[in-house]
Amino acid sequence: MELNALSPEQEQALPVPDQNLTLRPSGEDKSLPSAGQDLAVQIPEQDAERQPSAQDPASQTPEQQKLDLKYMKAALKQAEKALAIGEVPIGAVIVYEGKIIGRGYNRRNTDHTTLAHAEITAIRKACKKMGDWRLEGCTLYCTLEPCPMCAGALVQSRIDRVVIGAASPKSGCGGTLLNILQNEDFNHQAEITAGVMQEACTEILQRFFKALRVRNKAEKKARRAAETAMTREAPEGGCRPRGRKGGNRNGSKNYRPYRSFMSVGITGRSFRLTGHV
Ligand SMILES: [Zn+2]
Repeated sequence: MELNALSPEQEQALPVPDQNLTLRPSGEDKSLPSAGQDLAVQIPEQDAERQPSAQDPASQTPEQQKLDLKYMKAALKQAEKALAIGEVPIGAVIVYEGKIIGRGYNRRNTDHTTLAHAEITAIRKACKKMGDWRLEGCTLYCTLEPCPMCAGALVQSRIDRVVIGAASPKSGCGGTLLNILQNEDFNHQAEITAGVMQEACTEILQRFFKALRVRNKAEKKARRAAETAMTREAPEGGCRPRGRKGGNRNGSKNYRPYRSFMSVGITGRSFRLTGHV
């Protein structure tokens, strides 16, 4: 059925958008979370069903929990590397038989490519080490829930398990927005453990976005101050030609600001017209 063919009753039955979302004025960078927005937001109740089997870290054996903490710390170390170069701090590592065989951190701005996500870099390195495009028997640890691109690549790599730190309300495809990792229609599903070191993984992101907001605010303030200073320097009503202080284009000292020049021109023209009539 087409959407515009819905009856008022059916329209009322449509899901209401998340009331907690912050609306922003147009033109603002929507990729940045607002001041009050929690990065690891709770998954709305209606979406909880979309998480078929993301496991709680506590459901793992104590040995596995210990290993998960160890490798998530390694992923966080990668995220710190991204932070150090001014990138959104996201890190990932891939583990095979107790060894890290691939590491990666976000370098999207640095490398000028969409493909420079932490998970993609880690997959590339792990495949090189394994000598195979298949990553069967491997586990990926990522500080932030994979995006559609990375989740797709993980399914393609046939990775066994994905361990997630913080949930991503903007692009999470490990259960928050979609669950690409466990879609039954694909030929492979990965086991998911979500919420390992969630606080630390969220904190590093919040630290980055807080610093970014402060920097953006300072830049905006400096820009406004420069604009105000320029306005004060300019003569009343207009723009003085550069390098000709006190003179017009011909160097004459009878400098006439642009606005009054225009008004003279318009008056002169209408006068001439009147004269013709
Ligand atoms: Zn990604």
